[in-house]
Formats: sequence, C-alpha cells, structure tokens
Amino acid sequence: MENIGYYNGTFAPMEQLSIPALDRGVYFGDGVYEALRVERHRFFALKEHLSRFRDSLAFLRIAFPMTDEALTAILQEAADRVESDSQQLYFQVTRATAMRTHSFPDSCEANLLIFSRGVPLADQKEYRRVVVLPDTRWGHCNIKSLNLIPSVLAAETAKERGCSEAVFHRDGIVSECSSSNLLMLKDGALRTAPADERILPGVTRAHFLMLARELGIPVDETAFTLEEMLDADELMITSTSAHGLPVGFVDDKPVCGRDEALLRKLQKAYRAFFWSEIEANQ
Ligand code: PLP
Repeated sequence: MENIGYYNGTFAPMEQLSIPALDRGVYFGDGVYEALRVERHRFFALKEHLSRFRDSLAFLRIAFPMTDEALTAILQEAADRVESDSQQLYFQVTRATAMRTHSFPDSCEANLLIFSRGVPLADQKEYRRVVVLPDTRWGHCNIKSLNLIPSVLAAETAKERGCSEAVFHRDGIVSECSSSNLLMLKDGALRTAPADERILPGVTRAHFLMLARELGIPVDETAFTLEEMLDADELMITSTSAHGLPVGFVDDKPVCGRDEALLRKLQKAYRAFFWSEIEANQ
C-alpha cells in the first residue's frame, strides 16, 4: 500500500480513515504526538521517541495504559503495510472520546491514531532560506502537544516568503524553528538553545550534540541572540524529517557558508550514525 492509517484497532488507507467527532483531539487538540523515520521497515531511534512521548503524556496527565511493546507491535504492523522503504510515521494519542467539556471526562479511554507513508529523506546539500518570527507559542514547548497553531501559522508565513522554515525568537533570543531545532557553528564550536521549556528536545538535536562531542567539537547549550545568529559561521535546522539542513539566507540576507567543511563533517557523521542504527535494527 502507498500509505496506511490506523485508529483504535482499525487499519485503512489514510484517505478513508475516519474518527469520531467527539475525540477530544478534534475540538481541543487534547493529545500528544510523535513522528518517526522508518527505513527498510525498521525504526530509527524508537526508544528516544517513546521516552519523549511518555513524558508528554505524563505532563498532560493522559492515561495511556498500552505498553511500549504493544504499541511498537502496532507501529510495526502499520509500517509493514506500506510498501515504501523510506517512510515518515506519525502517531498521536488523545485523552478520550466524550462530550465537549474543558475539564477531563469522568472516565477516559485514550485513542491511538497512526499514519505512515513514503517520504524520501531530505536532500542535505542545498542551503535553505528561513524567515524570523516572534515565538508566540505557550510556555511548555518541550511537550509535543497537538496544539500547533502558532507553528502552523509560522510555517505558512515561511512558505509564502519562499522559505523552508521559520526561526522563532523571544525578545531577540532564538529558541528553535516551527518544526525543527536550530544549531549554530561559530569558531569551530556547536551552539544551540538549552533543552528547557522553550524548545522541543529534538531527538535529532541530541544526536548531533552527541556526535559533535565524539568528534571533539566543543558543544555549548546556551541560547544565542538574533545578532549572533546572523554572525554564525553556519546554521543548521535539525529534525527527524530534515536530519541536518544548512541555512544560507535569513530574511533574504545571505548568511553562513564560512565553515562548510565542519558542517559537512557533522552531516556526514549524522547520516553514518543514522544508517548504522537502521542496520543494527535489522
Ligand atoms: N522542534 C519542534 C518545534 C518540532 O516540532 C520538531 C519536530 O517535530 C523538532 C524541534 C525536532 O525534533 P526531532 O528531531 O525529534 O524530530
């Protein structure tokens, strides 16, 4: 199949899958999600994604009694139903299906929704364009909540301006992007905002930091300003779907390109790590 959807025990092509109108995900976005890469029907970094998923559930106080093993078996079945060797798998859990009342329903049974479809890995070579926008999201950006309206609006603004991403800042301090983290190379060191409540602790971000340390590249988890960003030797967007993409233009101003050798070294190390993990899962 080209793609698959799943909802509470039922598999169907994504376009044919339907869910109840009273799923609290529909009218409150009351749930959490994860997105994974699946290569050759094997997951990348599933453990890390499941750990962040459990943290997000705990923060939102959503009871999801299914074990990781049982969930993994369903995710695997979804991935196996799709022919593509290169998939993007999305899953979300919402609190309950119930009449619309803000407080939690008396009895909650969580809902599991899954989508998987073929999406090729992003091209790593080309320098991308980004737009800078104020970060208007809530105070718990470390939680992968379904409520993504500020990110949706920012991504649309980026698209309208011919950019791949929107970089967010709060009072001139860069946090991250609408659906990725932002890493900077300056004077041979890798710098990015700390993993606090202002950013999503990206699985890809953590792997880049780990690989940089292994390569002897100094790592600094201190947030940087917009001015510092514009003076970066290189900037990189990181996410599950992007891996690490170089940024060459910020608000139409040419930036970066001053330490391409180090940028490419990190990208290469990441791809090698990615494929070695996939191989190890065979
Ligand atoms: N930051 C935000 C706001 C995101 O939505 C994402 C991915 O969805 C990321 C960062 C990157 O996280 P990961 O590397 O785990 O995909």
